[in-house]
Amino acid sequence: MGAHKPVDLHMHSTASDGQLTPEALVDRVVAAGVELMALTDHDTLEGVSAAQAHAAASGIRCLSGIELSARWARGVVHIVGLNFDAQQPDLVTGVAQQLAARRQRAQRIGERLERAGCEGVLARVLDAAGANGAPGRAHFARDLVANGVVTDFRSAFSKYLKRGRPGYCAVEWATMEEVVAWIHAAGGKAVFAHPLRYGLSSGALRAVIQRFVDCGGDAIEVVSGGSHRNDIESAAALARRFNLVASVGSDFHDPAFQWSDVGRLGTLPKDLAPVWVHL
Ligand code: AMP
Ligand code: MN
Ligand code: MN
Ligand code: MN
Repeated sequence: MGAHKPVDLHMHSTASDGQLTPEALVDRVVAAGVELMALTDHDTLEGVSAAQAHAAASGIRCLSGIELSARWARGVVHIVGLNFDAQQPDLVTGVAQQLAARRQRAQRIGERLERAGCEGVLARVLDAAGANGAPGRAHFARDLVANGVVTDFRSAFSKYLKRGRPGYCAVEWATMEEVVAWIHAAGGKAVFAHPLRYGLSSGALRAVIQRFVDCGGDAIEVVSGGSHRNDIESAAALARRFNLVASVGSDFHDPAFQWSDVGRLGTLPKDLAPVWVHL
């Protein structure tokens, strides 16, 4: 395997909480020299066809993709779906249900933040996310920064939006079993996203990945935006332990976040099988 064409299978557009439209994102991916991409917005398929059309016109390949929020016994994880039929009814229905839960949560986060003194935040966030958008915590974080409530994006999460803070709201996401089943019904591959980002102990992380494997999950993200060599090794060890194939993705959201730019990715250890070889 070794050297492969530049690949990036995890990124966001304005269809969810990214800062670039699907077309502008594809332009950035092309400029970065990536030849195979996937647009993986949170709980929505809204940007996929525009990204695929623009990628085809630009001479690169764009797989259908999504990043689904999923519940398991002890919290929430993200499952990326790749290369599925975006019209498949189980998937389409499931995604609609997730998006409705996301929009209801936005209402509740907005109400909580307004009670905490952030006047007008909900209306501004819904406007920024767009009528067909997928409003998320990142939209609220940007608004809190823009209005001087916090000084930076990360503090918006640590002071307002993470669990235990005044703007936090739990969501009844679908279970990991359900989201993997939707992806498979649509002929896609299910990828356990950014394993080291959940703040789980190694025991809890192994438990949730075992659950993912039991659901029939296919792959794990071994290289993520900003991964250091030891992060890649830890994730690679999980891929080997659970016999999962490997994915790579920047998780790009914003050109200002230089550590997660498109195509800016560490190298996959060469003993691991890349998820994209059979796609
Ligand atoms: P949501 O799916 O709406 O709950 O939001 C999850 C998104 O918020 C992630 O995909 C990131 O874009 C962002 N996010 C979550 N936690 C943090 C954090 N601690 N710092 C910065 N961004 C975060
Ligand atoms: Mn995000
Ligand atoms: Mn994620
Ligand atoms: Mn993501």
